[in-house]
Amino acid sequence: MNLAAEVQRLGSARVMTIAGGFERQLAERVCQSIDVACWFDQVVQHVPVKNAEAARAAAAAHDVDLVLCVGGGSTTGLAKAVALTTGLPIVAVPTTYAGSEATNVWGLTEQRTKTTGVDDRVLPVTVVYDAALTVSLPVDLSLASGLNSLAHCVDSLWAPEADPINEALALEGARALARALPAIAQDPSDLEGRERALYGCYLAAVAFASAGSGLHHKICHVLGGTFDLPHAQTHAVVLPYVLAFNAPAVADLATRLAATLGHPVTPGQDPATAAVAALNKLRNALDAPRRLADYGLTGADLPEAVKRVLEVAPASNPEPITEAGLTALLTDALTGAIPAPPAPRAAH
Ligand code: NAD
Repeated sequence: MNLAAEVQRLGSARVMTIAGGFERQLAERVCQSIDVACWFDQVVQHVPVKNAEAARAAAAAHDVDLVLCVGGGSTTGLAKAVALTTGLPIVAVPTTYAGSEATNVWGLTEQRTKTTGVDDRVLPVTVVYDAALTVSLPVDLSLASGLNSLAHCVDSLWAPEADPINEALALEGARALARALPAIAQDPSDLEGRERALYGCYLAAVAFASAGSGLHHKICHVLGGTFDLPHAQTHAVVLPYVLAFNAPAVADLATRLAATLGHPVTPGQDPATAAVAALNKLRNALDAPRRLADYGLTGADLPEAVKRVLEVAPASNPEPITEAGLTALLTDALTGAIPAPPAPRAAH
């Protein structure tokens, strides 16, 4: 109903609906009250350039005037690829907690390299959130997707353009997600938990779009684009290791994050240790993904991964990024070592 009104308000007569895989049936439900001029279903994670070109060609062939995407971040990403070169408006109906619908960030993958950029043309003009559309998302993927959102929050705390406004959005997003995800784990059909997750996911994405990609996102882009690792699960695994790496250099932020995740720093406790412990508790409660090895990364891949991350890692990262530090971080994430910050240096 909302969607039909929105399509009409935007004056669209030729809608292209992008939805692939499972989302096709969700999209058919969503599109019952609108005319669709073109359906496009070749959705592939990390948006290979050839799929983007096929979608752009379909949009041109059908003379579409609006792109409607119904699906997760991969589907939204394909709609963004169309908007990037055509300027067509996007209406997004998300079905995961990736948050791409609330950012002006696009990503395209070619020859094992994922390129991301920022362009206001790809920011959807309208987002329709309906928690009922996320109920069919399997629990493990729901939780991994929610942790992808939490990663938007945490990385926004130290990303290149981090500021107090996006910090406030990020912490409120993290607070909401830390409540929502255990509720979903306990009862996957719980609409209240899923609505709260969408609320947190939106705030997280707005914070991320404003703060830019920090070290965590740069690592995950390399792992996804070059090694084809699954997006949400990769974020879920890597996040605590990046937090453990950076938290000692940002004690004040670590203190606020620990409290936001429900475990305030106790007297005498090191803030970095508290923040990582709080995140570990949440991940344990969710039985979150733990090892990159489970998703196909091998030890032999690490040197290339380290080299590629070093090429794109933000110079403003709070903790200086070295080859040795990054190798240790990725080795821990590969094997699932318990995430922990280095022991605090004794004061002299
Ligand atoms: P996804 O879109 O690839 O979906 C994962 C799987 O879940 C797919 O098999 C899909 O068919 C299925 N699925 C989706 N919704 C479902 C539902 N409601 N019920 C059942 N199955 C469902 O995964 P994702 O994690 O949402 O998105 C990952 C992609 O999004 C990556 O390419 C990533 O780079 C991009 N992304 C971009 C931004 C941005 O700001 N540009 C932000 C986050 C993610």
